Amino acid sequence: MKKNIIAGNWKMNKTNEETKQLIEELKPLVKDAECEVVCCVPFTDIVTARKAARGSNIQIGAQNVHWAEKGAFTGEISAEMLKELKVQYVITGHSERRQYFGETDETVNLRTKAALNAGLKVIVCVGELLSERESGKTAEVVTRQTIGALKDITKQELKSIVIAYEPVWAIGTGKTATAKDANDTIKIIRKTVRKLYGRASATSIRIQYGGSMNPQNASELMAMPQIDGGLIGGASLTAEKFAKVVNY
Ligand code: PEP
Repeated sequence: MKKNIIAGNWKMNKTNEETKQLIEELKPLVKDAECEVVCCVPFTDIVTARKAARGSNIQIGAQNVHWAEKGAFTGEISAEMLKELKVQYVITGHSERRQYFGETDETVNLRTKAALNAGLKVIVCVGELLSERESGKTAEVVTRQTIGALKDITKQELKSIVIAYEPVWAIGTGKTATAKDANDTIKIIRKTVRKLYGRASATSIRIQYGGSMNPQNASELMAMPQIDGGLIGGASLTAEKFAKVVNY
């Protein structure tokens, strides 16, 4: 049986002191969660978050990773560096990385493969822009992004991947895709995985929804048959809100 996964994406928020406080507050609130619980924190908070989460069911993730093992890539962090800090998950292809940092399907794929090679689990984000949705291109975009992100990734490696469907127009805007729309688009992503890897892999891969998911809409979204979890931005920054989503 696959386990649902709710992951917080803290983005560029929280100092070390605030990290310690948030994780400490979160621990008792999510201790009985039925899903996997992950907090994807800024690089500078990883050590503090790991220490604070020790002995709990909270796993720690990063928000980006470079594809090279080492070298002249100022400002970047390698998969081995994350592995050494005992990070369990890393996000690749977040729309903010695609939008502001020139991330492409190709670099998302390179980063994903580097993370897998180091033994990390990866949350790969896909999702259409508002203009793409309005021009009827949602299926085309998420299919292209999924195929691109998974290029040269084996069936075995796929087991370490979670896909997050995040319609870009719903991120940080308060606008959520309807549960039905999210479910329908995730079905398209799953069909793409089936074409690439077969039915069993498509059934077992976990696909999250992300985009203004919060305590009010989490249970409706999580009740949809195609949705196996959530990637949560804003609502992951306060323990009470995030815990409510986790305990949907
Ligand atoms: C995100 O950053 O992945 C996200 C879904 O953000 P928010 O929940 O704030 O829309």
